[in-house]
Amino acid sequence: MIHPVSIMDREIAASASFGACLAPRDSSNSSELLRKSDLALHRAKKNGKGSIQFFRAAMDSELLETTGLARDLREAIAGDGLHLHFQPQVDLVTGRVVGFESLARWTHAEKGNISPGRFIPIAEQSGLICDLGIWVLKASCREAKRWLIAGHPRRHVSVNVSAEQIRQPDFVAAVERVLLETELPPSLLCLELTESVFAESSSREVQRILESLQGLGVHLALDDFGTGYSSLSYLQNLPFVKVKIDRSFVSGIDRDGQKREMLAGIIKLVHALDMLTVAEGSESESEVRVLMELGIDQVQGFALGRPSAANMAIDQADKLDREFRAKFVAAVRQKSVA
Ligand code: C2E
Ligand code: MG
Ligand code: MG
Repeated sequence: MIHPVSIMDREIAASASFGACLAPRDSSNSSELLRKSDLALHRAKKNGKGSIQFFRAAMDSELLETTGLARDLREAIAGDGLHLHFQPQVDLVTGRVVGFESLARWTHAEKGNISPGRFIPIAEQSGLICDLGIWVLKASCREAKRWLIAGHPRRHVSVNVSAEQIRQPDFVAAVERVLLETELPPSLLCLELTESVFAESSSREVQRILESLQGLGVHLALDDFGTGYSSLSYLQNLPFVKVKIDRSFVSGIDRDGQKREMLAGIIKLVHALDMLTVAEGSESESEVRVLMELGIDQVQGFALGRPSAANMAIDQADKLDREFRAKFVAAVRQKSVA
């Protein structure tokens, strides 16, 4: 419990995190002790504010592993060692695949596939996220333009953007440059941002950047809604066209009445703000049917398609376009008639 103190007529709530190590157990050398307590402090801060951590030998080996991965990731970004997977996003009214989320993939030469859950935080901590982000943006726009040229239906590509990228002064110009270079119509690019974007920047600054992006003609989606601050003022004031509702609010809605009520409330709120709702991570067909009944606009989840390489993703999407209505719409109609 933090007790605020009053300093010069202002209430200040201060918290402290501690990192500690023991001499002589961990070392007898002062700079080594400082380094180890600093490592422990880093872990304490990561675990949430106001905690204390003692140094453990595993922290040193983890640091070594992370530093090695960061070095290999740098090479992978520079040498086209990353690739993309695309996951379909399906409009539940038309039953058509309206776009794909592009997801970064990394196959390490020795360690095999490393998940984004592992390498994106490393990229963020080691300052590589901007180079990685630009690589993903370019490759995604290039791919979407290829689909257009090949005569496939107009489908957008959604690209994840980290908070650190948004803070770069040249981010908007970089997006504009990629659009010009790849000749992708801006309306076919959607940028997905999580609420972490608001954590360290002033809301006015974020608003200015998002409005500039909107000015380019790209669409903006709020990703993982419900997991961060979920401040409703963001939704009201910022130019998002879509809200992606986190998987934790979606999984199990076919079995959990309370969850269904909660999701219905979120959908109502987002619709009242004139934005589209996208349900993330729906894994079963019965969940998709409930999502249709609740009036969700779009769904992205394993039930409709897993992320896959570009060519496979297109084939998967064309098949979904052909089969979705027969599979889901007829079933929902039958249920409502009964
Ligand atoms: P995200 O942006 O929320 O992406 C959706 C994640 O949910 C993907 O995980 C996707 O494979 C997974 N997913 C989709 N449907 C289902 C489902 O039905 N069930 C389950 N269990 N999972 C499902 P992935 O590819 O592992 O990516 C994880 C996160 O890594 C992404 O979450 C995003 O935050 C980040 N990420 C991935 N690629 C990039 C990138 O290029 N740039 C940045 N900044 N972040 C990225
Ligand atoms: Mg996303
Ligand atoms: Mg998400």
